[in-house]
Amino acid sequence: MAKIIAIANQKGGVGKTTTAVNLSACLGKLGKRVLLVDFDPQGNATTGCGLDKTSLEKSVYQVIMRELTLKDVVQHTEYQIDVLPASIDLAGAEVELATSEERETRLKDALDTARGDYDYIIIDCPPSLGLLSLNSLAAADGILVPIQCEFYALEGLSQIVDTIDLVHEEINPDLQIAGVLLTMFDPRTNLSAQVVEEVKKFFEDKVFDTIIPRTVRLSEAPSYGMPVIAYDSSAKGAKVYMELAEEVLRRG
Ligand code: ADP
Ligand code: MG
Repeated sequence: MAKIIAIANQKGGVGKTTTAVNLSACLGKLGKRVLLVDFDPQGNATTGCGLDKTSLEKSVYQVIMRELTLKDVVQHTEYQIDVLPASIDLAGAEVELATSEERETRLKDALDTARGDYDYIIIDCPPSLGLLSLNSLAAADGILVPIQCEFYALEGLSQIVDTIDLVHEEINPDLQIAGVLLTMFDPRTNLSAQVVEEVKKFFEDKVFDTIIPRTVRLSEAPSYGMPVIAYDSSAKGAKVYMELAEEVLRRG
């Protein structure tokens, strides 16, 4: 039965998509059966896996509107993972679902049909705490929170914690914190080291030992539509995301 992990933080640009794509590809490389769910209307995880979001005929939008099944829409990729792609029409779902039945559990219902087919289902969440993110957290067993090593890193953390509490009480009592991941670490700055210390103080053993540095290869790989292990398997970025995948497996 698949373990479902939502990669979520309401801030944009903290490394959610980079983590979703590269963690998925590394878990795939380690022999796990992985489904990557792009649940951000920007479709960056979709393009990051080499799929063209502008020419998609079917996407996760139709799945949550219950027009198509998950299996109708899932695409196999050459990177040992399957992808449930997204395109901009997903933005409309937030409004269209607002008054619908079971509006918070559309994604959960869809993913439950695929739990037996995968070991891990990784959800790339949008940078907001709206209905799409609620769907992701309702569906997930665990939330993985990427935090960028920058001055404003700690701002908004209490908002995430409040959201997790709310989801716990109202929608998904089983949701756990799968881990907090420090991203875009720059070893040359004191600031990065300070952020690591502060985040560890706040989240204690929830923080992954693996810390993701800022690297050129990680920022380049998406423009080639590739996870970094496919783009340059010897790169530092490939090595650290492989370490993260191993840590995720270890933590269970
Ligand atoms: P989010 O999904 O949270 O908005 P992204 O994963 O898209 O964040 O990352 C934001 C930007 O930073 C992207 O251009 C991405 O390529 C870049 N980026 C993310 N992680 C790294 C990293 N470790 N090193 C270098 N660039 C990174
Ligand atoms: Mg993103």
